[in-house]
Amino acid sequence: MSEVRCRFAPAPSGSIHVGNARTALFSWLTARHHGGTFVLRVEDTDVSRVTEEAFRGTLESLRWLGLGWDEGPDVGGPHAPYRQSQRTAIYHEHAERLMAGGHAYRCYCTPEELEERRDQARARGEPPGYDGRCRRLSDAELAAFEREGRLWAVRFAMPERHYIVHDLVKGEVHFAAGALRDFVILRSDGSPVFLLAVAVDDMLMGITHVIRGEDLLASAPRNMAVIEALGGTLPQYAHLPLIVGSDRQPLSKRHGSTSVEAFREHGILPEALVNYLALLGWSYDDQTTFFSREELIERFDVSRVSSNPAAFDSDKLEWMNNHYVQGLDDEDLAARVVHFLAGAGLLVDPGLLRRAMPLVKERMKTLTQAVPLLRFLFTDDVEPDETAAAVIEKAGPGYLADAAEALDGVGTWDRASIQSALDALAGEAGLNRTKGWQPVRAAVTGSTVSPPLPESMELLGRDRTVARLRAAAAR
Ligand code: GLU
Repeated sequence: MSEVRCRFAPAPSGSIHVGNARTALFSWLTARHHGGTFVLRVEDTDVSRVTEEAFRGTLESLRWLGLGWDEGPDVGGPHAPYRQSQRTAIYHEHAERLMAGGHAYRCYCTPEELEERRDQARARGEPPGYDGRCRRLSDAELAAFEREGRLWAVRFAMPERHYIVHDLVKGEVHFAAGALRDFVILRSDGSPVFLLAVAVDDMLMGITHVIRGEDLLASAPRNMAVIEALGGTLPQYAHLPLIVGSDRQPLSKRHGSTSVEAFREHGILPEALVNYLALLGWSYDDQTTFFSREELIERFDVSRVSSNPAAFDSDKLEWMNNHYVQGLDDEDLAARVVHFLAGAGLLVDPGLLRRAMPLVKERMKTLTQAVPLLRFLFTDDVEPDETAAAVIEKAGPGYLADAAEALDGVGTWDRASIQSALDALAGEAGLNRTKGWQPVRAAVTGSTVSPPLPESMELLGRDRTVARLRAAAAR
């Protein structure tokens, strides 16, 4: 096979949604698997929707996922520019060529006329779509429209033949002759329609594999017809199945935040998200769940993608994230967690944070969970929450004062000595460990849920621990 060239063609309108992120990943993996090229082409022709912020956000999300591109708007490349908004002249030139070759024509129909004829067709029970009126204009009719100064769009003359898309995922997809009507490729204001822009760009950029969402399947025969009319080489198409929620409905706002940005802010690691997305429709075998990036590149094969809808399961993603969190060394994990703690207004001591990592690694499904778990270490403002306050109240000031004394008297301030002191304290009060430790936990951390208590207190230090117990006793 000649060099493999894949592209991701987002229309940025905010942060990338999981569906598009998966499309980007599958396209990137295909390029990397074959040692080919990954092209980022930004489909920003709809100026009403695309903002600079959305454009930058899209690039940022891809970078965060580690899906780097070889050619694109910022890095350039042999087929620059890579933003469709900067390629208008190219689309005009190709529309001209199509017209010159008899593959496209000026369409003078007004929106009102189109509407009226659509209604009539519907009333006759005919399929919707353009009726081909301007394809057959006589010279006299054409001249009359021109004299009238009517606006015109450019419409592609869809060949009336049966189309077969040999889709790498869907298999053979048939489109009966006549089912696909002539479509607009340039609007009357001169703006290109994506059906033209995508086909021209895929052709000019030498794309060999068009990997995109299933919603674009019906574009494939139209894209193919344009490329054929221009004498270009057809790419292979792979249309990825829809992503649905656990209720089997297409993923939407109802299913919570599903943008890459939202996952990032929620504390999902990019390596976990990539691994999870890879399994949305693709599998290597029935057993393997965890794949490093290198393994994905080595094993990924787009033709093994299932054509059935893939169900998105955020619990599984978080479970997977926890696996990746546990696999990070303390230094690395601390460096990733610090952003979330700082975002919660905590002043973080990096050395202390690194030492706290073994205490929370197994518990964190997302990095944001580090905030409630480790808050007590990075602030002395540990006003107990409601449950903690109730536990403190029930234990009474005497118990906490005793705890303060016992811990103040501990010889070496380490986990083992702290644990013995706590057990002795509970034992004297006739309490088991759970009951006896809980008021201490509540007073020291402000919560009834914390990392292991003796280890937490060891990190916090004797002075801060004792001071908190005394403060709680006095309250
Ligand atoms: N720009 C389209 C989208 O964001 C993709 C077009 C294509 O991949 O052909 O859905």
